[in-house]
Amino acid sequence: MEPLPRNYVPETDALILDGKAVAQRVREQLKQRVAALHARGVVPCLAVMLVGDDPASHTYVRTKAKTCESVGIRSIVKHYPADVTQATLEAQIDAWNADPTVHGVLIQHPVPAPLNEGALLHRLDPRKDVDGITPASLGALVAGEPAFGACTPLGIITLLDAYGISIEGKHAVVVGRSVILGKPMALMLLNRNATVTICHSRTRDLAHHTRQADILVAAVGKPEFITGEMLKPGAVVIDAGYNRVEGRKGDVGDVAFESAARVASAITPVPGGVGPMTVAMLLQNTVLAAEQQA
Ligand code: NAP
Repeated sequence: MEPLPRNYVPETDALILDGKAVAQRVREQLKQRVAALHARGVVPCLAVMLVGDDPASHTYVRTKAKTCESVGIRSIVKHYPADVTQATLEAQIDAWNADPTVHGVLIQHPVPAPLNEGALLHRLDPRKDVDGITPASLGALVAGEPAFGACTPLGIITLLDAYGISIEGKHAVVVGRSVILGKPMALMLLNRNATVTICHSRTRDLAHHTRQADILVAAVGKPEFITGEMLKPGAVVIDAGYNRVEGRKGDVGDVAFESAARVASAITPVPGGVGPMTVAMLLQNTVLAAEQQA
């Protein structure tokens, strides 16, 4: 296998953690596992539930479906209008739970109110929870039991591992505590023996905490919120954010890249950092689900 690119941010010592390249590697490895499943007559299949007309959700779902196909995973996308009933969605989840040809199910977030996304997640069979965000999967993470890892934090751990960045004994600071990202991220880092601080909107003197971080994960949802002055020299900086900013092309991360790269020893770009890893982990979890169920 080709060695990973070791590129640095121009005029700095910051190694670029190239999520695109690592995700490509993951997909190559998955193709072999998918071929082995195909040889046994099993076609791994991801079913996606998409509710409403959020343009970003539609784009994400298209990307996920296309990437599935690129490695030989079948994908089904069921799109429902925002005025669909909760009962219809629950019946669909029940049908997928019972369907042996469907190995993984993704409920695209957000399911618009007044529909109850939490109730749908509760209903999903944890063996098919390839997004790793049902209460059962998160509970297993707390208990240190096997379960599918939530895709974005799992992608971040995989990216750190791919570059040989050790986690054990490091002080990791996670800014953000959402159920899909910040909380499972903190738990995964803790399970890998980091000392973990979790920051959120009520944290006092945020910069005091972020400056302690050997590994800083920004999962805030605020463009360029973490700046170079908030970092310890040599920190590894992971930017999970992608934000649309009026007047700017493409997505903007939660980290001010240029100022952070002057201080960091390694940093993820946006795009091309965490985003591709998230999709790769969804595929990896789906293949694992198919292997487990076959
Ligand atoms: P979220 O549910 O809105 O959570 C944001 C978190 O940031 C909350 O815990 C919030 O604290 C915290 N926060 C808000 N303002 C803060 C402040 N001033 N200081 C410290 N913490 C603050 O967002 P999310 O779903 O976790 O997503 C976070 C970012 O990651 C977004 O940019 C999103 O687009 C991106 N994302 C990327 C991927 C990917 O594949 N790359 C996947 C999912 C999400 P409280 O809990 O106190 O409100």
